[in-house]
Amino acid sequence: MASQKDYESAIVDPNSRQRFLDLLDLSEIKPHVRKVVYYPQGHYFYFNRKDYYDAEKMIMSTRRSIPSLFGINVRLKINVYANAFSLEQHPLLGDFLSSLIDHEAFHAKEIYEKDPKVKFPWRGLFSMKSSDWEILFWRQDIRALDNQLKNFKKRNVSREYVEGILQRKLDLEGVVNPEKGPEVLREEIERLLF
Ligand SMILES: [Zn+2]
Repeated sequence: MASQKDYESAIVDPNSRQRFLDLLDLSEIKPHVRKVVYYPQGHYFYFNRKDYYDAEKMIMSTRRSIPSLFGINVRLKINVYANAFSLEQHPLLGDFLSSLIDHEAFHAKEIYEKDPKVKFPWRGLFSMKSSDWEILFWRQDIRALDNQLKNFKKRNVSREYVEGILQRKLDLEGVVNPEKGPEVLREEIERLLF
């Protein structure tokens, strides 16, 4: 089990980050995640037009393997980038765990379980507009954010972190479901939180 102190040491010493990740109790994500790896740099594989998927700001990502694109079940790999190790991003170890276990591993679970919502849209590969792709990814992310909100009670999370997640949820919902409006969203969020 890792402590806040271990987390803070990993912030200071990049060489100890993989060791820190190996210390975490990841038993609950084991069924869908085969490894969690420290990668000093982010990947550019999303639509870099939008800030939200800017590789410079990426903290973690779930990597689909080639077999998984063809529907073959393999547990996924999660990459953790340097940005994840910062007190601005994750003031507390609980924040870090929320990002890793409740968010990233949630993506891994949906992919592993072949949830129809994350089926790779081969047919749309050339015909889909980039805005459709974005909406697809944002919906996926909204579900992961909801899972974080639901699990906040069991984690020791910081106020700043919670605020950041709420804001992200509001931003994405605003794009994907503009008809909902901020009040409906607030209500939905509160229902998840309490
Ligand atoms: Zn995500």
